[in-house]
Amino acid sequence: MPELTNDYSRLSQQARDYLFRDHLMLVNGQRIAAESGETIEIVDPTNNEPIGRAPSAGAIDVDKAVKVAKCAFEEGPWPRMTPGERERLILKLADLVERDRVMLAEIEVLESGRVFGAVQAFDSDLAVTCLRYMAGWATKLTGKTIDLTAPYAPGMKFFAYTKLAPIGVVGAITPWNVPLVQAVWKIAPALAAGCTVILKPSELTPFGALRFGELALEAGIPAGVVNIVTGTGRTAGAALASHPLISKISFTGSTAVGKEIARASAEGLKKVTLELGGKSPMVMLGDANLVNAIPGAAMAIYANHGQNCCAGSRLYVHSSIYDKVVAGIADIASGTVLGSGLDPESQMGPLVSRKQQERVLGFVERGVAAGAELVVGGTALDHVGAYVKPAILANVNHSLEVVREEIFGPVLSVMRFDDENEVLKLANDSSYGLGASIWTQDINKVHRFAEGFQAGTVWVNVHNVLDMALPFGGVKNSGMGHDLGEEAVLQNCTVKAHVINLT
Ligand code: NAD
Repeated sequence: MPELTNDYSRLSQQARDYLFRDHLMLVNGQRIAAESGETIEIVDPTNNEPIGRAPSAGAIDVDKAVKVAKCAFEEGPWPRMTPGERERLILKLADLVERDRVMLAEIEVLESGRVFGAVQAFDSDLAVTCLRYMAGWATKLTGKTIDLTAPYAPGMKFFAYTKLAPIGVVGAITPWNVPLVQAVWKIAPALAAGCTVILKPSELTPFGALRFGELALEAGIPAGVVNIVTGTGRTAGAALASHPLISKISFTGSTAVGKEIARASAEGLKKVTLELGGKSPMVMLGDANLVNAIPGAAMAIYANHGQNCCAGSRLYVHSSIYDKVVAGIADIASGTVLGSGLDPESQMGPLVSRKQQERVLGFVERGVAAGAELVVGGTALDHVGAYVKPAILANVNHSLEVVREEIFGPVLSVMRFDDENEVLKLANDSSYGLGASIWTQDINKVHRFAEGFQAGTVWVNVHNVLDMALPFGGVKNSGMGHDLGEEAVLQNCTVKAHVINLT
């Protein structure tokens, strides 16, 4: 049995030195406290004990950081460097994140509760890949030449072209579920485009982002280009979203907060990209290859403890395979080894906080009270850590809260179907539209479902595959705009049209 509470003697000396020191924000290359002196306690969810404190920025601190980033954008070297020079510095930053990959993963294990191996793969290593991919875009942003007609100017000739210019100061606001990589998804494309950035990480998980900011300085990215402000959403986040000098807000988080951010951004007509919640369906047809589909569906919901925006949280299974699929996923759920993220035997750690644990358990209790069958899991461990045993709610009525609302925990709702046309309608009958997957060996059905799903990403015989080169975004209440891919870089640019009189 793995340990349930993190054993800090397992941490590298580098992580210990970093974590157990005073944490300050990073503005203009300086480590600073909040003007008010206020701080927020950061808690290890395996023992509900504090691991440190981070400054709690107020509107004054946010204003200071935005003015610094504005000055760095208008007067500093970053937007004026050659694209090749920017590329070189972002690549240098990637090398430093790679150098510190273990320490960065250890930081995220402690503040988010997740398991070291997964954190190293999805936070540290994916961050490196993202930085390298985005660095390449710095030298590949081009405009077009355009022949004009201008019927009101007969006889005149023009040479016209477009140019991609950095949009300005970008405010990035990120959640706690994959904190480092979320920060890098926002910062790297903005840097490639030539923007300056203020990041406000989640108040639950600020330490990885603060360390990333230090690495940006060490890489030689000029002071004021990457600024990290810590604090609550209500105060620091809201001040960033409404600040008049910000040109673009890039937000990942809940749909409710995303809508508040869109409203706050409207006043200054800021560009906004919103990566929001999801309730992603998985449809398993009768001919699905169950050797692949059963572990695939289990992974889709239980990876990262279900704390993935695109987690496959609704599973529709054809009647002919329903019992086998539910039993197979239940076996995987009940065999999952819960434990602290620093113990190599652990397969699943606690949720991010006691609050999140209560929230997830509440969904399970209400689901059962409303008639869902709890096949496995869905309870806490007899321990102070925020653990929830991976759960399956079966024979769920489509109208229940556990089918409609994002739980953001390891809880799968399973429904049975017979009619393939009907199941596509049910899959789309959601206010969300982030991801969807179809599990079948029939190529015609693959295309029919891929076309029919209302989702930003569709997977076939797999779920949750994200890549730096692939735009990631949602439709409906799952958001607007994209992270990742060329789209993410373009969303940090503005198109300028230039016209030259040749007559
Ligand atoms: P959250 O919306 O509570 O917080 C996200 C961030 O917004 C945090 O930094 C928070 O401090 C800040 N914030 C909160 N209120 C704010 C306000 N009024 N103004 C400005 N900023 C504010 O979300 P969370 O609980 O941290 O994360 C979980 C949510 O994130 C889930 O809904 C999940 O689906 C979503 N998410 C989406 C994606 C995606 O790419 N679509 C990825 C990861 C997580």
